[in-house]
Amino acid sequence: MIKSPTNLKRVLMAPGPSDVEPRVLEALSRPTVGHLDPAFMQILHDIRELLQYTFQTRNELTLTMSGSGSAGMEACVVNLIEPGDPMLVCVNGVFSRRMADVAQRCGADVSIIEVEWGKVFLPEQIESALEKKPAKVVGVVHAETSTGAGQPIEEISRIVHEHGALLLVDAVASLAGMNVDVDGWQIDACYSGSQKCISCPPGLAPVTFSDAAIEVVENRKTKIQSFYLDLSVIREYWGTQHRYHHTAPINMSYALLEALRVVKEEGLENRWARHLANHKILRAGLTAIGIDYITQPGYELPMVNAVAVPAGIDDAAVRSQLLSEFNIEIAGGLGDFKGKAWRIGLMGFSSTLSNVMLFLSALEKCLADQGAKFERGASIAAAAHTASQMA
Ligand SMILES: *Cc1c(COP(=O)(O)O)cnc(C)c1O
Repeated sequence: MIKSPTNLKRVLMAPGPSDVEPRVLEALSRPTVGHLDPAFMQILHDIRELLQYTFQTRNELTLTMSGSGSAGMEACVVNLIEPGDPMLVCVNGVFSRRMADVAQRCGADVSIIEVEWGKVFLPEQIESALEKKPAKVVGVVHAETSTGAGQPIEEISRIVHEHGALLLVDAVASLAGMNVDVDGWQIDACYSGSQKCISCPPGLAPVTFSDAAIEVVENRKTKIQSFYLDLSVIREYWGTQHRYHHTAPINMSYALLEALRVVKEEGLENRWARHLANHKILRAGLTAIGIDYITQPGYELPMVNAVAVPAGIDDAAVRSQLLSEFNIEIAGGLGDFKGKAWRIGLMGFSSTLSNVMLFLSALEKCLADQGAKFERGASIAAAAHTASQMA
Protein backbone atom coordinates (compact mmCIF):
# COMPACT_ATOMS: atom_id res chain seq x y z
CA MET A 1 0.00 0.00 0.00
CA ILE A 2 1.40 3.37 -1.03
CA LYS A 3 0.70 5.99 1.58
CA SER A 4 2.84 8.99 0.66
CA PRO A 5 0.94 12.28 0.90
CA THR A 6 0.50 14.08 -2.40
CA ASN A 7 -0.51 17.58 -1.39
CA LEU A 8 2.00 18.65 1.20
CA LYS A 9 2.42 22.36 1.72
CA ARG A 10 4.64 23.48 4.56
CA VAL A 11 6.07 26.76 5.75
CA LEU A 12 9.78 25.98 5.54
CA MET A 13 11.56 27.72 8.39
CA ALA A 14 14.42 25.30 8.96
CA PRO A 15 17.85 26.35 7.70
CA GLY A 16 17.13 24.80 4.33
CA PRO A 17 15.43 23.84 2.20
CA SER A 18 13.48 27.10 2.00
CA ASP A 19 10.13 27.78 0.35
CA VAL A 20 10.24 27.89 -3.43
CA GLU A 21 8.41 30.56 -5.39
CA PRO A 22 5.65 29.33 -7.74
CA ARG A 23 7.45 30.69 -10.82
CA VAL A 24 10.50 28.55 -9.93
CA LEU A 25 8.33 25.45 -9.52
CA GLU A 26 6.69 26.26 -12.81
CA ALA A 27 10.10 26.41 -14.50
CA LEU A 28 10.95 23.01 -13.03
CA SER A 29 7.95 21.46 -14.77
CA ARG A 30 8.81 22.60 -18.32
CA PRO A 31 9.54 19.90 -20.92
CA THR A 32 12.94 18.27 -20.57
CA VAL A 33 15.39 18.85 -23.44
CA GLY A 34 18.69 17.15 -24.22
CA HIS A 35 21.84 18.09 -22.31
CA LEU A 36 23.61 19.01 -25.58
CA ASP A 37 20.70 20.97 -27.07
CA PRO A 38 21.98 24.42 -28.12
CA ALA A 39 19.02 25.98 -26.29
CA PHE A 40 20.16 24.28 -23.10
CA MET A 41 23.69 25.60 -23.66
CA GLN A 42 22.19 29.08 -23.61
CA ILE A 43 20.55 28.27 -20.28
CA LEU A 44 23.91 27.21 -18.83
CA HIS A 45 25.44 30.40 -20.15
CA ASP A 46 22.75 32.50 -18.44
CA ILE A 47 23.09 30.54 -15.19
CA ARG A 48 26.81 31.30 -15.21
CA GLU A 49 26.18 35.00 -15.75
CA LEU A 50 23.65 35.19 -12.93
CA LEU A 51 25.89 33.15 -10.62
CA GLN A 52 28.74 35.56 -11.32
CA TYR A 53 26.39 38.36 -10.25
CA THR A 54 25.31 36.50 -7.11
CA PHE A 55 28.87 35.49 -6.10
CA GLN A 56 30.09 39.00 -7.07
CA THR A 57 32.84 37.55 -9.23
CA ARG A 58 34.24 37.70 -12.74
CA ASN A 59 35.60 34.16 -12.39
CA GLU A 60 35.21 32.37 -15.68
CA LEU A 61 35.04 29.04 -13.88
CA THR A 62 31.63 29.60 -12.30
CA LEU A 63 29.15 26.76 -12.73
CA THR A 64 27.00 24.25 -10.89
CA MET A 65 27.89 20.79 -9.67
CA SER A 66 25.12 18.19 -9.92
CA GLY A 67 24.30 17.52 -6.29
CA SER A 68 23.55 19.34 -3.05
CA GLY A 69 25.82 21.74 -1.17
CA SER A 70 27.98 18.87 0.06
CA ALA A 71 28.79 18.01 -3.57
CA GLY A 72 30.07 21.57 -3.92
CA MET A 73 32.23 21.04 -0.84
CA GLU A 74 33.66 17.76 -2.16
CA ALA A 75 34.20 19.26 -5.62
CA CYS A 76 36.29 22.12 -4.22
CA VAL A 77 38.39 19.90 -2.00
CA VAL A 78 38.93 17.02 -4.43
CA ASN A 79 39.99 19.34 -7.26
CA LEU A 80 42.40 21.42 -5.17
CA ILE A 81 43.91 18.70 -2.99
CA GLU A 82 46.34 15.97 -4.00
CA PRO A 83 47.18 13.17 -1.58
CA GLY A 84 49.53 14.47 1.12
CA ASP A 85 48.79 18.17 0.55
CA PRO A 86 48.54 20.12 3.81
CA MET A 87 45.12 21.67 4.43
CA LEU A 88 43.99 23.74 7.42
CA VAL A 89 40.31 23.59 8.35
CA CYS A 90 38.73 26.00 10.84
CA VAL A 91 36.18 23.94 12.78
CA ASN A 92 33.38 25.58 14.77
CA GLY A 93 30.36 23.47 13.88
CA VAL A 94 28.95 20.55 11.92
CA PHE A 95 29.70 21.84 8.43
CA SER A 96 33.29 22.84 9.08
CA ARG A 97 33.75 19.44 10.72
CA ARG A 98 32.33 17.90 7.54
CA MET A 99 34.85 19.84 5.46
CA ALA A 100 37.70 18.39 7.55
CA ASP A 101 36.25 14.91 7.03
CA VAL A 102 36.00 15.43 3.27
CA ALA A 103 39.60 16.69 3.17
CA GLN A 104 40.79 13.62 5.06
CA ARG A 105 38.96 11.34 2.63
CA CYS A 106 40.71 13.15 -0.25
CA GLY A 107 44.03 12.24 1.33
CA ALA A 108 44.94 15.73 2.57
CA ASP A 109 47.30 16.12 5.51
CA VAL A 110 44.62 17.88 7.55
CA SER A 111 45.27 20.28 10.43
CA ILE A 112 42.34 21.54 12.45
CA ILE A 113 41.90 24.55 14.65
CA GLU A 114 38.79 24.80 16.75
CA VAL A 115 36.80 27.34 18.69
CA GLU A 116 33.82 26.65 20.89
CA TRP A 117 30.58 26.08 18.93
CA GLY A 118 28.66 29.32 18.40
CA LYS A 119 31.89 31.33 18.25
CA VAL A 120 33.88 32.62 15.27
CA PHE A 121 37.64 32.60 14.62
CA LEU A 122 39.93 35.55 15.21
CA PRO A 123 42.29 36.18 12.28
CA GLU A 124 45.23 35.76 14.71
CA GLN A 125 44.22 32.16 15.37
CA ILE A 126 44.54 31.34 11.69
CA GLU A 127 47.79 33.27 11.42
CA SER A 128 49.42 31.38 14.26
CA ALA A 129 48.24 28.03 12.87
CA LEU A 130 49.77 28.88 9.47
CA GLU A 131 52.99 30.00 11.12
CA LYS A 132 53.26 26.65 12.89
CA LYS A 133 52.44 24.71 9.75
CA PRO A 134 51.98 26.06 6.22
CA ALA A 135 48.96 24.89 4.23
CA LYS A 136 48.08 24.67 0.56
CA VAL A 137 44.40 25.36 1.23
CA VAL A 138 42.62 26.95 4.19
CA GLY A 139 38.96 26.02 4.55
CA VAL A 140 36.41 28.08 6.45
CA VAL A 141 32.63 28.16 6.68
CA HIS A 142 31.12 31.61 6.16
CA ALA A 143 27.71 30.91 7.71
CA GLU A 144 27.88 27.94 10.13
CA THR A 145 24.32 26.72 9.95
CA SER A 146 24.70 24.44 12.97
CA THR A 147 25.50 27.34 15.34
CA GLY A 148 24.11 30.45 13.62
CA ALA A 149 27.54 32.10 13.56
CA GLY A 150 28.74 34.31 10.68
CA GLN A 151 32.52 34.27 10.17
CA PRO A 152 34.07 37.53 8.86
CA ILE A 153 36.19 36.56 5.85
CA GLU A 154 38.15 39.62 4.66
CA GLU A 155 40.92 39.71 7.24
CA ILE A 156 41.34 35.94 7.16
CA SER A 157 41.74 36.12 3.39
CA ARG A 158 44.61 38.60 3.69
CA ILE A 159 46.43 36.32 6.15
CA VAL A 160 45.84 33.17 4.12
CA HIS A 161 47.29 34.81 0.99
CA GLU A 162 50.24 36.27 2.88
CA HIS A 163 51.05 32.69 3.79
CA GLY A 164 50.82 31.54 0.19
CA ALA A 165 47.69 29.43 0.64
CA LEU A 166 44.38 29.31 -1.21
CA LEU A 167 41.17 30.29 0.59
CA LEU A 168 38.21 27.91 0.34
CA VAL A 169 34.90 29.30 1.65
CA ASP A 170 31.63 27.47 2.30
CA ALA A 171 28.84 29.90 1.36
CA VAL A 172 26.05 27.31 1.26
CA ALA A 173 23.85 29.13 3.75
CA SER A 174 24.99 32.70 3.16
CA LEU A 175 24.92 33.17 -0.63
CA ALA A 176 22.09 35.51 -1.72
CA GLY A 177 21.10 36.16 1.91
CA MET A 178 24.06 38.28 3.01
CA ASN A 179 27.15 39.77 1.42
CA VAL A 180 29.40 37.13 -0.18
CA ASP A 181 32.01 39.09 -2.12
CA VAL A 182 34.15 36.50 -3.89
CA ASP A 183 36.34 38.94 -5.83
CA GLY A 184 36.38 41.70 -3.21
CA TRP A 185 37.44 39.26 -0.49
CA GLN A 186 39.76 37.36 -2.85
CA ILE A 187 38.20 33.97 -2.21
CA ASP A 188 39.87 31.27 -4.34
CA ALA A 189 37.18 28.64 -4.25
CA CYS A 190 33.62 29.04 -3.05
CA TYR A 191 30.60 26.76 -3.12
CA SER A 192 26.93 27.03 -2.24
CA GLY A 193 23.65 25.14 -2.50
CA SER A 194 20.50 25.84 -4.48
CA GLN A 195 18.02 25.31 -1.62
CA LYS A 196 18.98 27.87 0.99
CA CYS A 197 18.85 31.64 0.34
CA ILE A 198 18.56 31.10 -3.43
CA SER A 199 15.22 29.34 -2.76
CA CYS A 200 15.38 26.72 -5.48
CA PRO A 201 14.73 23.05 -4.68
CA PRO A 202 17.82 21.11 -3.48
CA GLY A 203 20.00 19.46 -6.12
CA LEU A 204 22.52 21.91 -7.51
CA ALA A 205 25.70 23.31 -6.00
CA PRO A 206 27.03 26.58 -7.44
CA VAL A 207 30.83 26.68 -7.43
CA THR A 208 33.36 29.33 -8.43
CA PHE A 209 37.17 29.11 -8.80
CA SER A 210 39.68 31.98 -9.06
CA ASP A 211 42.51 31.97 -11.61
CA ALA A 212 44.93 30.93 -8.87
CA ALA A 213 42.70 27.98 -7.99
CA ILE A 214 42.41 26.96 -11.66
CA GLU A 215 46.19 27.06 -11.96
CA VAL A 216 46.45 24.63 -9.05
CA VAL A 217 43.97 22.28 -10.74
CA GLU A 218 45.78 22.54 -14.08
CA ASN A 219 49.18 21.80 -12.52
CA ARG A 220 48.22 18.73 -10.56
CA LYS A 221 50.63 15.81 -10.68
CA THR A 222 47.94 13.26 -9.90
CA LYS A 223 44.58 12.62 -11.52
CA ILE A 224 41.54 14.09 -9.75
CA GLN A 225 40.34 11.19 -7.63
CA SER A 226 36.62 11.73 -8.39
CA PHE A 227 35.36 11.17 -11.92
CA TYR A 228 31.99 12.78 -11.24
CA LEU A 229 33.35 15.97 -9.66
CA ASP A 230 36.29 16.49 -12.03
CA LEU A 231 36.15 20.22 -12.81
CA SER A 232 38.81 20.00 -15.50
CA VAL A 233 36.28 18.10 -17.65
CA ILE A 234 33.04 19.64 -16.38
CA ARG A 235 34.30 23.09 -17.35
CA GLU A 236 34.64 21.84 -20.93
CA TYR A 237 30.98 20.88 -20.92
CA TRP A 238 30.13 24.40 -19.70
CA GLY A 239 32.64 25.95 -22.11
CA THR A 240 32.49 26.30 -25.87
CA GLN A 241 33.33 22.64 -26.56
CA HIS A 242 30.16 21.39 -24.76
CA ARG A 243 31.94 18.09 -24.29
CA TYR A 244 29.70 15.45 -22.73
CA HIS A 245 30.73 14.42 -19.22
CA HIS A 246 27.52 13.45 -17.43
CA THR A 247 23.87 14.25 -18.12
CA ALA A 248 23.15 17.61 -16.52
CA PRO A 249 20.05 17.88 -14.30
CA ILE A 250 18.07 19.69 -17.00
CA ASN A 251 14.92 20.64 -15.11
CA MET A 252 16.85 21.62 -11.98
CA SER A 253 18.81 23.96 -14.21
CA TYR A 254 15.57 25.59 -15.45
CA ALA A 255 14.58 26.08 -11.83
CA LEU A 256 17.93 27.51 -10.80
CA LEU A 257 17.92 29.93 -13.70
CA GLU A 258 14.48 31.17 -12.65
CA ALA A 259 15.49 31.42 -8.97
CA LEU A 260 18.58 33.42 -9.92
CA ARG A 261 16.44 35.71 -12.05
CA VAL A 262 14.36 36.38 -8.95
CA VAL A 263 17.57 37.21 -7.05
CA LYS A 264 18.67 39.62 -9.77
CA GLU A 265 15.25 41.29 -10.01
CA GLU A 266 15.17 41.92 -6.28
CA GLY A 267 18.81 43.01 -6.29
CA LEU A 268 21.48 41.62 -3.98
CA GLU A 269 21.53 44.59 -1.61
CA ASN A 270 17.74 44.61 -1.23
CA ARG A 271 17.81 40.90 -0.61
CA TRP A 272 20.43 41.18 2.13
CA ALA A 273 18.45 44.06 3.71
CA ARG A 274 15.26 41.97 3.72
CA HIS A 275 17.03 39.05 5.41
CA LEU A 276 18.50 41.35 8.03
CA ALA A 277 15.21 43.16 8.72
CA ASN A 278 13.23 39.95 9.23
CA HIS A 279 15.98 38.61 11.49
CA LYS A 280 15.77 41.73 13.67
CA ILE A 281 11.99 41.47 13.89
CA LEU A 282 12.12 37.78 14.84
CA ARG A 283 14.82 38.49 17.36
CA ALA A 284 12.81 41.25 19.04
CA GLY A 285 9.90 38.83 19.37
CA LEU A 286 11.97 35.98 20.79
CA THR A 287 13.78 38.26 23.22
CA ALA A 288 10.44 39.55 24.54
CA ILE A 289 9.52 36.04 25.73
CA GLY A 290 12.95 35.28 27.17
CA ILE A 291 14.42 33.18 24.35
CA ASP A 292 18.14 33.77 23.88
CA TYR A 293 20.51 33.25 20.95
CA ILE A 294 23.33 30.73 21.46
CA THR A 295 25.62 32.49 18.99
CA GLN A 296 28.50 34.78 19.96
CA PRO A 297 26.88 38.25 20.25
CA GLY A 298 27.49 40.39 17.20
CA TYR A 299 27.96 37.42 14.85
CA GLU A 300 24.37 36.16 14.59
CA LEU A 301 23.37 35.20 11.07
CA PRO A 302 20.27 36.82 9.55
CA MET A 303 19.20 33.57 7.85
CA VAL A 304 19.82 31.08 10.68
CA ASN A 305 18.50 32.01 14.10
CA ALA A 306 20.02 29.59 16.60
CA VAL A 307 18.39 29.93 20.01
CA ALA A 308 18.42 28.00 23.28
CA VAL A 309 15.44 25.79 24.06
CA PRO A 310 13.99 27.32 27.28
CA ALA A 311 14.50 25.30 30.47
CA GLY A 312 11.71 22.81 31.13
CA ILE A 313 10.50 22.81 27.50
CA ASP A 314 10.42 19.60 25.46
CA ASP A 315 12.36 20.46 22.28
CA ALA A 316 11.03 17.68 20.06
CA ALA A 317 7.41 18.13 21.21
CA VAL A 318 7.43 21.80 20.24
CA ARG A 319 8.89 21.07 16.80
CA SER A 320 6.42 18.32 16.13
CA GLN A 321 3.47 20.48 17.27
CA LEU A 322 4.66 23.32 15.01
CA LEU A 323 4.62 20.88 12.11
CA SER A 324 1.35 19.10 12.84
CA GLU A 325 -0.76 22.08 13.95
CA PHE A 326 0.76 24.89 11.91
CA ASN A 327 2.62 23.19 9.04
CA ILE A 328 5.72 25.08 10.15
CA GLU A 329 9.08 23.34 9.94
CA ILE A 330 11.98 24.53 12.09
CA ALA A 331 15.11 22.55 12.97
CA GLY A 332 16.56 21.23 16.19
CA GLY A 333 20.18 21.40 17.27
CA LEU A 334 22.93 19.48 15.49
CA GLY A 335 26.03 17.87 17.00
CA ASP A 336 27.00 19.57 20.27
CA PHE A 337 23.67 21.45 20.28
CA LYS A 338 21.43 18.41 19.83
CA GLY A 339 18.36 18.77 22.10
CA LYS A 340 19.54 22.18 23.29
CA ALA A 341 18.81 24.49 20.37
CA TRP A 342 16.20 25.48 17.84
CA ARG A 343 17.35 26.76 14.49
CA ILE A 344 14.86 29.01 12.80
CA GLY A 345 15.59 29.64 9.16
CA LEU A 346 14.64 32.86 7.40
CA MET A 347 16.07 32.00 4.00
CA GLY A 348 15.22 33.37 0.59
CA PHE A 349 11.48 33.25 -0.14
CA SER A 350 10.86 32.12 3.47
CA SER A 351 12.26 35.35 4.90
CA THR A 352 9.03 37.34 5.19
CA LEU A 353 7.31 39.41 7.84
CA SER A 354 4.24 37.15 7.63
CA ASN A 355 6.34 34.06 8.37
CA VAL A 356 7.94 35.76 11.37
CA MET A 357 4.55 36.77 12.81
CA LEU A 358 3.01 33.36 12.08
CA PHE A 359 5.94 31.56 13.70
CA LEU A 360 5.90 33.69 16.86
CA SER A 361 2.19 33.22 17.42
CA ALA A 362 2.48 29.48 16.78
CA LEU A 363 5.46 29.20 19.12
CA GLU A 364 3.60 31.03 21.87
CA LYS A 365 0.79 28.47 21.68
CA CYS A 366 3.22 25.52 21.79
CA LEU A 367 5.02 27.01 24.80
CA ALA A 368 1.75 27.79 26.59
CA ASP A 369 0.52 24.23 25.96
CA GLN A 370 3.58 23.01 27.84
CA GLY A 371 2.79 25.34 30.75
CA ALA A 372 5.62 27.80 30.11
CA LYS A 373 5.37 31.08 32.02
CA PHE A 374 5.65 34.19 29.84
CA GLU A 375 3.56 37.22 29.01
CA ARG A 376 1.13 36.01 26.34
CA GLY A 377 1.30 38.08 23.17
CA ALA A 378 4.56 39.78 24.14
CA SER A 379 6.58 38.33 21.26
CA ILE A 380 4.05 39.44 18.66
CA ALA A 381 3.79 42.93 20.15
CA ALA A 382 7.58 43.35 20.21
CA ALA A 383 8.00 42.04 16.67
CA ALA A 384 5.23 44.28 15.34
CA HIS A 385 6.73 47.27 17.14
CA THR A 386 10.18 46.60 15.64
CA ALA A 387 8.71 46.12 12.17
CA SER A 388 6.82 49.43 12.40
CA GLN A 389 9.94 51.26 13.53
CA MET A 390 11.92 49.95 10.57
CA ALA A 391 9.25 50.78 8.01
C1 LIG B 1 23.34 23.03 4.25
C2 LIG B 1 24.80 23.24 4.38
C3 LIG B 1 25.74 22.36 3.82
C4 LIG B 1 25.37 21.07 3.17
O1 LIG B 1 24.53 21.24 2.12
P1 LIG B 1 23.63 20.01 1.59
O2 LIG B 1 22.87 20.69 0.53
O3 LIG B 1 22.80 19.56 2.74
O4 LIG B 1 24.54 18.97 1.10
C5 LIG B 1 27.07 22.69 3.92
N1 LIG B 1 27.48 23.80 4.56
C6 LIG B 1 26.61 24.64 5.14
C7 LIG B 1 27.11 25.84 5.85
C8 LIG B 1 25.24 24.39 5.06
O5 LIG B 1 24.37 25.24 5.64
